Amino acid sequence: MSSPERYSALKGVQDILPPDISLWQRAESLAREVFSRYGFQEIRTPIIEPTALFTRSIGETTDIVEKEMYTFPDKAGRSITLRPEGTASVVRAYVQHHLSGLPSPRKFFYAGPMFRYERPQQGRFRQFHQIGVEAFGVASPVLDAEVLSMLKVFLAALGLRELRFEVNSIGCENCRPSYRKALQDFFSGVREDLCPDCQRRYEYNPLRILDCKVERCIELRRGAPHVSDFLCEECKSHFEKVLAALGLLRIPYVINHEMVRGLDYYTRTTFEVTSEHLGAQKAVAAGGRYDRLVEEFGGPPTPGIGFAIGMERLTALLSEKEGVVEVFPDVYIAPLGEKAAAEGLLIAERLRAKGLWTESGYEGSSLRSQLRRADKLACRHVIIVGDDELSSGKVKWKDLKTGSQGEVEIPKVEEFLSSFRTDVG
Ligand code: ATP
Ligand code: MG
Repeated sequence: MSSPERYSALKGVQDILPPDISLWQRAESLAREVFSRYGFQEIRTPIIEPTALFTRSIGETTDIVEKEMYTFPDKAGRSITLRPEGTASVVRAYVQHHLSGLPSPRKFFYAGPMFRYERPQQGRFRQFHQIGVEAFGVASPVLDAEVLSMLKVFLAALGLRELRFEVNSIGCENCRPSYRKALQDFFSGVREDLCPDCQRRYEYNPLRILDCKVERCIELRRGAPHVSDFLCEECKSHFEKVLAALGLLRIPYVINHEMVRGLDYYTRTTFEVTSEHLGAQKAVAAGGRYDRLVEEFGGPPTPGIGFAIGMERLTALLSEKEGVVEVFPDVYIAPLGEKAAAEGLLIAERLRAKGLWTESGYEGSSLRSQLRRADKLACRHVIIVGDDELSSGKVKWKDLKTGSQGEVEIPKVEEFLSSFRTDVG
């Protein structure tokens, strides 16, 4: 016989196991709750999309499209990509299903896995998860502030407060070309000294040089012109109004002139929420406006804005802050013998119907080994069902926390135990 195969998960992907999963569940359910207060409804889009959807929207010369996409031909030879982000799919769905006909803004949120072929490291995975939102149809800067406020409310509800809200405006198709030109002029003398990626970026998308993590490029961009000096009147006024609304909402923000974001579809407002507790990958959430994207996808002119939260980084912050919350069974049913096992099964089902987490021992185990298992599982109560008990219509109970014990009539077990129920929030 050949030896059994052992498999490991692929590089850069992770299993999310209990008890860590409780952090994910808490964040997800809180996101649903908070976002729905602002009128965002869930949308689920496919994980696979035609490759062109991403190359066109994210941009041919971005890191994601150039290096990071999981792209492969399907059996019919079509080029398929595992989604590297959520916005392109939501915009596609918005256009495909003519959702623009309804009153604006239309607001959606999504949660799920994203895929990027990146070098795995702390805070960076090949399959990672995002919760994101998108709002369509309103160009007002008030919406920008409202969306940022929602993000802040969500993070604060999770107990995360030491965060930095960085904002910027990267202008629109009218004013960005002059900024692009100014950056090219600034870097023209040192072009050869830039990293190979930035030499290409110089040509196609010099704004992205501002985002480069290479030490030399960071040095070379010192003193580069600020986008704020190139914004057209409309973009300038939009940004000022966003900042005023953030002030009104008491969201302490920092203007980061270098934040250009790694995707091409952004216009005007961009933002990132960062934490000093995350090491090198410090952005926990990021987003911005994309006022041209719906139109580029063949829809009517429709402004849009959204953000995505990186779940791995969010849950890392949560676990650092308070650790995972472990939950334990309420009851352990220890039946002794076959008849008792049948009665134990019925009692267990009744307790579960009452909402109690009920574990059970199975035939053939001694009382000792069942008590040991109950203890290992950290159950609060043990119910011992034996032949003597059955004939008297009662079972024994034991409180493993206080050590007290006694007897209770079988029909009253639920009532008795429910009074101990620890509500798990
Ligand atoms: P970064 O600067 O970290 O590469 P990005 O600009 O590529 O981020 P976005 O596409 O804006 O990131 O994604 C939004 C958020 O998703 C990020 O702020 C981060 O929290 C998370 N994220 C992005 N890529 C990864 C990854 N490979 N692994 C884990 N989380 C990620
Ligand atoms: Mg990235």
